[in-house]
This record gives sequence, C-alpha cells and structure tokens, in this order.
Amino acid sequence: MSPRSNGAWAVPGDATYPPPWDAVTDEAQESLTKELAQELAPGHALYGRPVRVVAKCRACDDTVVRVGDQWAVVHLSWSHPDRPPWPSTVVGPTLKAVLSEFEDNDH
Ligand SMILES: [Zn+2]
Repeated sequence: MSPRSNGAWAVPGDATYPPPWDAVTDEAQESLTKELAQELAPGHALYGRPVRVVAKCRACDDTVVRVGDQWAVVHLSWSHPDRPPWPSTVVGPTLKAVLSEFEDNDH
C-alpha cells in the first residue's frame, strides 16, 4: 500500500505501519492530536513539545505520535489533563524503536 496513492495522509519519510497500526485520516489526526494535547500536563515527557498523532492501534487507544524528529507511542487516557507520567508514553529515536516495545501485544 502506498500512502500517497489513495489520498491518505502521507507518512513522514514514507514510513509504513505494520499491523495492528494504521495511519490515521487527516480528521482523526486533528482530533487525536487535540485530545493528546489536552491530556498532557507539566512534567509529562511530551508536554510543550510539538506532537502530532499519525497512527493508531486497531484494537486499543494506543497512538503513534511524531514528536519533532522523535517518535512516541501514547496510550490515550481521555483525562483532561491527566497526571504525569500518564498518559503512558514510550519515546524513541525511530518508529521501529518505539513499535518494537509493543511487539508482544497479543493483538
Ligand atoms: Zn493496541
């Protein structure tokens, strides 16, 4: 699947997401990024940083987030704001590094 061929949001660097991760639509990107920003409070690893939700797990509220030139997986908590260190977050230098933390998920 090419992210550029079907009108879907183009992934930075043409990254692709392995199952169970799916790139999000423009609308979902906007609403999920807004949701994430409302959950982050001072003291959280991502607070005040340029975040953008780019993909989501098909089976749960885990989202893949672009953070400047880093990547993160954040489990959205739907608390406004949440109390750091929640929403639970894994940050890494590459998409592969952060997704590898979730390879043992049973979905
Ligand atoms: Zn999941």
